[in-house]
Parts: sequence; C-alpha cells; structure tokens
Amino acid sequence: MHPQIALRRRRTSAGLAAAVATMLALAGCAVQPAPSPSSVPPSPATSPNSEVAPGLPITLDPAVIPGLDSSVDETLQAGDYYYISLPKVPGQEAWTKALRDELTPQLDRFTASTPGTAKAPYPEFDANWDLVASSPKVVGVRLSTDEYGVNGAFAGKVEYAWLDLAGGVIRPSSDLIAADQTAEFFSRVRTAAAEESSIDAELIRTQIAGDWKGGLNAVGFTTTGRLWVEFDRTKATQAHGSVGVAIRSDGLLSEFGQAARTAALTPTDPSTGQSAPTTAASTPVPSATSAPASPSPSIPKPTATKSTSAKPTATPTPSDTPNCRKLKCVALTFDDGPVAGTATLLDVLKSKGVHATFFVVGKNAAVNRSLIRRMVNEGHVVGNHTWSHKQLTRLTDSGIRAEITKASDAIVKGGAPTPTLLRPPYGATNATVSKVAASLGMAQIMWNVDPLDWKDRNSAKVTQRVLAATRPGSIVLSHDIHPTTRAAYAAIIDGLRAKGYTLVTVPQLLGTITPGKKYFRR
Ligand code: ZN
Repeated sequence: MHPQIALRRRRTSAGLAAAVATMLALAGCAVQPAPSPSSVPPSPATSPNSEVAPGLPITLDPAVIPGLDSSVDETLQAGDYYYISLPKVPGQEAWTKALRDELTPQLDRFTASTPGTAKAPYPEFDANWDLVASSPKVVGVRLSTDEYGVNGAFAGKVEYAWLDLAGGVIRPSSDLIAADQTAEFFSRVRTAAAEESSIDAELIRTQIAGDWKGGLNAVGFTTTGRLWVEFDRTKATQAHGSVGVAIRSDGLLSEFGQAARTAALTPTDPSTGQSAPTTAASTPVPSATSAPASPSPSIPKPTATKSTSAKPTATPTPSDTPNCRKLKCVALTFDDGPVAGTATLLDVLKSKGVHATFFVVGKNAAVNRSLIRRMVNEGHVVGNHTWSHKQLTRLTDSGIRAEITKASDAIVKGGAPTPTLLRPPYGATNATVSKVAASLGMAQIMWNVDPLDWKDRNSAKVTQRVLAATRPGSIVLSHDIHPTTRAAYAAIIDGLRAKGYTLVTVPQLLGTITPGKKYFRR
C-alpha cells in the first residue's frame, strides 16, 4: 500500500475546468444507434500513421486493483437526477477527494443553470469512470460526465486523470508527452483528425492548434500502444459519441508517458506490481475512432441476455417459498451498488435471515464482482439497474438495450443468473423502455415505498418512513451505497416483523412476472 499523499493537481495553463474533450456518449437525445463492436470501423487503415493498427482505446478490468471500489457520492447531488461515481483506489483516498473537488464547480454550475425541477425531461447529471492504466508508478482513469440541462441541452466532458504515485500528483494528459515533442504531437493529431470524416476539424481547431491551452486533456492509449486522443464531442461532431483519433506514440512520450503506456498495456496492482491473476490485460473499447455514440465503453452483444420470448416466466417456487397470497409479504430492494460497504448490509440481512433484491449498477458490479457472488450465495436476487445509471427515457432503442445488456453481462460475470428484473434509473420509463425490457425478457420493478434515504441520510428517518409507509405487498426502495441506510435495516427488519410482515425477494412477492410490465407492488 502506498503512503497517503497530499495530492496537488498539476495544471496546464488552460486549466482542467476548461471543457475538455469528448465523452462517451450516451446516446441520449435521439442520437444514432449504438454500434455493435463489429460495426465500428476497426481502424483507419488509410492513415499514413498506421504502421501498426491503431487498436482500440483501452479500458482495464477493475480486478487488476484488488479492493478498487466505486465512490457513489450522493452528497454531491443537488437534485433527483444526479448520479456521481468516482474511483476509490485503496490507499489513495486523497485522489478520490481531489477528483471530487474538481467536479464540484462543474456540478455547482450545472445546478445553478437548471433551477427548480421543471417538467420532464428533468435536468440530469451523470459522472462515471473507467480504469485505463495501473502500475506501482501510475494509475489512470477516464472520467466522463454527461449533462442534460434545461430542455435536454447536452453538455459534458471527458478527461484522463493520471495519478503519479511516485510524485504524489495528479498529472494532466499533457504530461504524457515530452515537452520538446509538443509540436510533433499536435501535428500528428491534426493529420489524423483531418482524415476522420466525422470530425469537424474547424470546430476543434483550438484544441488541436498546437499547444495544450486549447483544453485538450483526454489522452490515453490503445490496445496497440498508440496514443488515443479524445476531443470535445460537443464540438467535434453533431453526435454525442466518443470522438477521437489514435496516433503513433513513438518518439513522443515523456518518461512519465512511457510509464503510463506500460501501465495501460500490461497493467499491474499498484501495491504489489503483480498482474491480476484472473483477468485479461485489457478490454478494448469498441469506439476506437470517431465512431458514433456508444452508451458505454464496450457494447455488449445484444444476444448476451436476450430471453427467448416475452412470455411470462414463472419463478421457481420451492416448497419453503412464502405464500404471499396469504401472508403479509414485503420485498426489500436496494439500488445503486454494490460498493464495498454493501458487505455490512449483507451481514445484517444474513444475521436476520432475510433475502432481499439488489438492483445493481453494471459498472459497480464489474468492480465488486465478489459481492455479486456473495449476494447469490446468500439467497438474494440480483436485478439490473443499467450499466451507468443513465435516464433511459432519453435514449434510443439501441442505447437502452446496450445499457441493460452490458449490465446483465457484468452481473453474470459476477456469478449471478441473467437478470429478469430491471429497475430503470430514477424510475424513469416510457413505451420505448418497456418495449426493450419486454424484448429482453425483463419486467420493470418500481416501488411504492420510498424513504428518500439518499436525500436525508438519517437512519432514524429512514426507519420511521419505511415502517410508516409499508403495506402488505409493498416494494421498498433504498440505496445500499449509504452507510446511514445500511445502519437502518436491522431496526427496519425488526419493526416490519413486529407488524407481522414476511420479508421476501421480488420474485417471491410477485410470483409470475410479465416481461415489459411495470410492477409497483404485489
Ligand atoms: Zn439508482
């Protein structure tokens, strides 16, 4: 473990607040369909830079860093439609705080620009991350935000934040490039961008002009070791997609850049220098070039979780399954995890002999695979809360499908059965979401008891609200990412049982479910 370090952020003159580069898009707003990996042009083979294939932008399996966790920080949230996730590297809590501090002004500005709660579509702010490099010398993450302001106006940014473990600083992307190679770097970027028909070079002129003052701060690596350079997607193209180019890295990298490249291509545990035993070195991102928007760094094959039909599916009912036709059944549901702290809630449920239903975020399931396995082993049901917690009602059919199937893939990798239960983030659904859910064989599980645990983060209030609002057949919503919620559940379970309730999973509560249908209670 590395000593705790006081991080200071090295800045380029443009500063990180400058709206940088591209993002991963979420297809929101009626964008184009998400491509399947095979539909993405794999590489601009025509590029004069292509002595080696450009490869695909790297995102790493989070298992390379044991104990890596998502910090799902709702204390940053100023509204109902905010989802903020940052990386939490063991021993590097100061880094998470630095990233969080950096995000705060952007959030404040967004909140100030979206007063009140207007009408749907509601203002939405999402922040997500991907691990892109890891070694005892350097850890890299790609941070992306999506902002949907008043009337759905889209903004957001992407940056790569490079943690220099030896120096104890967060370095900007410019530090990957040797100072005397700046001109050559931008020259290669300009050439590559000019070859991309989907990039409007004029619109990103300032970013590629020849120095870092234009705000470029999203540089990583591809699977073949090239530099991956992302642009401000709100400028580079009309689409919301991830927009960038892969350029040759030879001769360009600083000493730090070379260490970062090694950490991207052959990632190791920052504490031990060991590579992860069970994981592949890297997972390519399909949107290698200026490909159209993809809802997440890798697009699942639609077949991965596709059910055979939209017929109602009966839940297996062992003889000891509670009979909810006769009993006062209640289903406890927990959203947004798993995070490391979810283990404490699992401890409570285990000690009380309660089985619950967890609607997990795919990105968090990928980070905390062992907790998915534990949920299954201890009799809980794992449902799908999408890959990156986007408001699905903004997305196209294929964007919705990708958000769901990628999460299901991560859940299955964790050891759970393919989910048949979907909880749309924010409870936001419409005819398109219902149609996609039905085609994937999934029912939409809403709720009718909401203690607003994310808002107050007060165990006593959460307990009192759940006990006051629960009725026979209720589905109770909570969030296992909050310590205050986890701490409330021993008392909630005791209180519900004292009122004669039987605590069951959602499948036990509902019995036969119909794909696509919305359920608020039994
Ligand atoms: Zn949620």
